[in-house]
Amino acid sequence: MAAEAPLRFAVIGAGMSGILAAIKLQEAGLDDFTIYEKAERLGGTWRENTYPGIGCDVPSHLYSYSFAPNPEWSHRFSPGDEIQAYFEGVASRYGVEGRIRYGEEVSRCVFERGRWRLETKSGLRDEADVVIAATGVLHHPNLPGIAGLDRFEGALFHSARWDHGVRLDGRRVGIIGTGSTAVQIVSALVDRVAGLSLFQRTAQWIMPQENPVYSDAEKSGFRQHPEQMRQLHGDLSKLFAQGFSNAVVDAGSPQMQMIEDACRANLESSVRDPVLREKLRPSYRAACKRLIISPDFYQAIQKPNAQLVIEGIDRVEGGGVRTRDGRLHELDVLVLATGFRVDRFVRPMHVVGQRGQQLDERWSKRPDAYLSISVPGFPNFFMLNGPNGPVGNFSLIEVAELQMAYILQLVEQLRSGRCRMLSPREESTTRFEADREEAARRTVWSTGCRSWYLDDRGIPAVWPWTFDRFREEMARPKLEAWTLEG
Ligand code: NAP
Repeated sequence: MAAEAPLRFAVIGAGMSGILAAIKLQEAGLDDFTIYEKAERLGGTWRENTYPGIGCDVPSHLYSYSFAPNPEWSHRFSPGDEIQAYFEGVASRYGVEGRIRYGEEVSRCVFERGRWRLETKSGLRDEADVVIAATGVLHHPNLPGIAGLDRFEGALFHSARWDHGVRLDGRRVGIIGTGSTAVQIVSALVDRVAGLSLFQRTAQWIMPQENPVYSDAEKSGFRQHPEQMRQLHGDLSKLFAQGFSNAVVDAGSPQMQMIEDACRANLESSVRDPVLREKLRPSYRAACKRLIISPDFYQAIQKPNAQLVIEGIDRVEGGGVRTRDGRLHELDVLVLATGFRVDRFVRPMHVVGQRGQQLDERWSKRPDAYLSISVPGFPNFFMLNGPNGPVGNFSLIEVAELQMAYILQLVEQLRSGRCRMLSPREESTTRFEADREEAARRTVWSTGCRSWYLDDRGIPAVWPWTFDRFREEMARPKLEAWTLEG
């Protein structure tokens, strides 16, 4: 058996997962690493999304690293700038901020002679034994193929590229899309603008959820008794798993019915005008699309200056949006809250594995990975929040923590000298994918709606089992599913 080998790591991305990876590597005494970040600031999704009303609909005391509770959260569901500040604070407190190379986008990652050779856009080169790709999921804006977008004479931008130089107060604002993003924007803007037009292609189920503030006394209690926050994190995690995460994978479960009933009751009791109510009524099952959580969307869309447009967009013109009924909706600002291209993952980075295998080629139809962590033929290349993992109404922090603990156990095989290269077996990956696809067909995401969860064949590209099963699977790698070489 070889002697203990010092390992070098490259972490790609300084968002929630990349910061986590760095902290955990450091904690494990694996101190030789660099984090490459293409932007000039850490934070990932929370750096990029700054639209009005942005928040996280996972409770803040759950949407925190389990090892870094935060007594200062202002609300049960805190706003985006607080979350961004939280990640910046943790990265600096844990000493990983200084390990980030900002402005360096890794463009190539090639496995040669047993090591990964990385190159950034600016020409910087590095070598690493292990790559941890923490490049995010909801990252590449989806720009809709609507005719005439380039002819619009007002301000136009995607929700993840918010132009804060554009004045909104007192103006006519159009929003295309009715996902979680659009709903948060509508609630935040309606009282500021002269007119708000929401262009809805598909109605959404809305789960009501109050968002109370934490009082000074509560925050002081958290500061003095951090164990209260750990308890809360654990309780919320259990509640989420039992009440929601485990329900969505069983479309016929009583919990799923309860969620649907709550959404229906919200629609019936909150929307007074029967015509508007029918326009807002979805024709598919609740949680088939990513469930929207909002305390006040229905109230916002009923304001006199708000308009729900369901006629379908024909084209965008210089003065606004022309719908299929021939009407021109005149606008000063048009926001594309049209979501993300979710099948990109580590791409556009060019990744070449053993024997010259290209990740782009392997993923030409759709991305795959064993347990969403790693791809056969790409040794020592691990992903956090990679393809087909638990997404949607989960705490992605919890997901990444479990994945990182799993990856560290694999890394231990390298550190101990048991092997120098580790990648999942092709058979394990094929079997996992086949089982996953079969189970995915039984989930609520397969019950007849269009959503970003679905792949090009209409199969949900997500973890289709319970969160408890994910936790169990991540607890200990089954080494027989992996190839250990060298
Ligand atoms: P999304 O859920 O993908 O919604 C995109 C919206 O744009 C949909 O309503 C879609 O209509 C519409 N759209 C797309 N192309 C269109 C076209 N050509 N014409 C008309 N409408 C078009 O995107 P998102 O709202 O940005 O949310 C993405 C995900 O981010 C969420 O599902 C969630 O996981 C995450 N997120 C989370 C939070 C949070 O609080 N945790 C907040 C925001 C976002 P159809 O429905 O008809 O396809």
